[in-house]
Amino acid sequence: MDFNHYFTNEELSKLLKDWEAKYHDLIQVSTIGKSHEGQPIWLLTLTNQATGPDLEKPAVWIDANIHATEITGTTSAIYIAYHLLTGYGKDEQITRQLDQSVYYIVPRVNPDGAAWAMGPNPRYVRSGVRPYPWEEKDEGLFTQDINEDGKILQMRIEDPNGDWKISSLDPRLMEKRAPNENGGTYYRLLPEGMLEDFDGYLIKVARPLEGLDFNRNFPFEWRTEGEQHGAGPYPTSEPEIRALVDSVIKHSNINLAITFHTFSRVILRPYSTKADDDMNTDDLWVFKKIGELGSKITGYRCVSTFHDFKYHPKEVTTGAFDDWMYDHQGVFTYTIELWDLPTEAGIKDRKWIEWWRDHPHEEDLQILKWVEEHASPEAYMEWKPFTHPQLGQIELGGWNNMFTWRNPPLSYVESEVKRHYPFMLSLGEMLPHLSINNLEVKKIGDDKFHLNLVVENTGFLPTFTSQQGKTRQSSRPVRVELVLPEGASLTSGKHREELGHMEGRSNKLDLGANSADSPTDNRARKEWVIQAGVGTKILLKILSERAGSITREVELI
Ligand SMILES: [Zn+2]
Repeated sequence: MDFNHYFTNEELSKLLKDWEAKYHDLIQVSTIGKSHEGQPIWLLTLTNQATGPDLEKPAVWIDANIHATEITGTTSAIYIAYHLLTGYGKDEQITRQLDQSVYYIVPRVNPDGAAWAMGPNPRYVRSGVRPYPWEEKDEGLFTQDINEDGKILQMRIEDPNGDWKISSLDPRLMEKRAPNENGGTYYRLLPEGMLEDFDGYLIKVARPLEGLDFNRNFPFEWRTEGEQHGAGPYPTSEPEIRALVDSVIKHSNINLAITFHTFSRVILRPYSTKADDDMNTDDLWVFKKIGELGSKITGYRCVSTFHDFKYHPKEVTTGAFDDWMYDHQGVFTYTIELWDLPTEAGIKDRKWIEWWRDHPHEEDLQILKWVEEHASPEAYMEWKPFTHPQLGQIELGGWNNMFTWRNPPLSYVESEVKRHYPFMLSLGEMLPHLSINNLEVKKIGDDKFHLNLVVENTGFLPTFTSQQGKTRQSSRPVRVELVLPEGASLTSGKHREELGHMEGRSNKLDLGANSADSPTDNRARKEWVIQAGVGTKILLKILSERAGSITREVELI
C-alpha cells in the first residue's frame, strides 16, 4: 500500500469494505453515526474475534481528522490499521495484542470537512460545514479560490500604509516592514477571497460562515459563543461529536487514546485549562512517563497544552477531546500534532505558537528553499497580477498552505506517519489485563469443595486506568460471579464477590526500591466452599470494564 497518499472519503469507504472482506476475523467495520451531510463516520474494531468479543478486552482508541484540513491524521490511522491487520500471525507482538486487546480506530471524524478540503475547488473550514453561529454571512472578506486555479493563496495590494514589503532576501517572499521604515513600496497581505458588502474602503476579514470547531464541542468545561468561538450551541450539539462521545461511552474498555491532528510535531497532553500543579500528581507522572516514551519513539516532544501550546498566553481552550477523555472518563489521552514544516526545513527548538508571532525573516527563506527542493512546484506560487472584481489590480501568490504547512508534501506523508505506529503498539503493551494467577479446587469432605482464586492484573495500568478514573467512578471494581448448577450451593462465600480494583505497575514508577506500599497490589484473592456432587461443573466469571473479562468452567473433582 502507498502511504504517500491522502485518502478521499470514497477511497476510504472502499478500502474498509475490502479489508472487511479480506480480514473478517480481525476487523469489524461499523459506523459511529453520520456527519451533518449524511456521510458515514467509520469505526474499525481491530481484534481477533475468535478469542472473545471486543468489549471483554482492554482497548486503545485512535481517531483522526476532526479538523477539516488535517488529513494526514487519516493516513496515519490507516497506516496503523493496515500494519496491525497484515502483521497478525506473522509478528508475535501484533498477534498477542490482537488476541488479548482491541484497537478502536476512527480514521476520519469529519468526512464533510475533509471532502471540502480535498475537492477540486477546495474550501478550507476549521471543522464542520454547517453555518455557525449564523445562517447568513457576516460582512467582510471570505476566503475563496477566486481565480479557480484550485488553490487558496494570498492577495497583495500595494498601499503606502501597508505593513509588508518585498523581501530583501528573496523577491518572491514578503517581509514585515520595520517600525522605523518609511518611503518604500509597501503592501497589505490578505487571504485570497471575496468581500461581502464592500464599501470600497474598509476591509475586515470576516468570521468564516462555517465557524464551528468540533474540538471545542466536547462536554469538558464547554463554553458559549460569547466566551469561546465555534464551540457549538451546547456540548455535543454536532452530530460528529455526539457520535464520538456516544461511541466512547459505549466502549468502557478504553484506557488509552490518541487523536491525530496537524501540525507542529508535538504530543500534547491534558490539561488545556490548568497547570500541572493542579493535576493529580500520580496521573501526571504516568502522563509524563508515557509521553517520554512517545518522544523517544516519534521524535516529537510531549508537553502540556496549558504550559506550552496556548494560542494566546492568557487564554485557554475548553471542550477538547483529550481533556474530556481524561477528566470525565479517566482515559490517558494525547493529541498528536503531525508534521512540522519549519522543523523539517531545519529550524531547531522552535517555540510553536510564539514562532508564528515573530521569528527571524531568514527562517522564512530557509523554509522556502526547503520547499523548492522537496515539495511540488505549486507549494509556493510566485506573485502574479490579477484583476479582482472588487479590489481592482492586485497580485495573487505566496504559500499554498494545504500541502506545505498544514500537511506534508505528498512524498513526505509516509515518513511522517510511520513513526507513530510503534508508539501505538507501545500503548497496546500498557493496557491493564486480568489473568488467573491461581485457581485451585480441593475436596475437603463428602460433596464439599474448597475453591481458591487469585486474580492478577498483568498490565502496566491499573484496572481503574487512572486516579481520575477512580475519582469519576468511570469503571467499577473487578467482580467475580459463580454460576452454580441446580443442586449445588455455597457454604461459604457469595455468588457475587467484589475483588476490588487492582494496581498495575504505573504506581511503581519511583526508582526507590520499595516504591509501592504493597508489591502485590496487582492481585486479589477469594475463597469459597461449595456443596456439590463430584464432577459438578461451575462457571466462574471475572468481570472488569477496563481490564477485560474472563469466563472459566471449573470441574469439582
Ligand atoms: Zn487540529
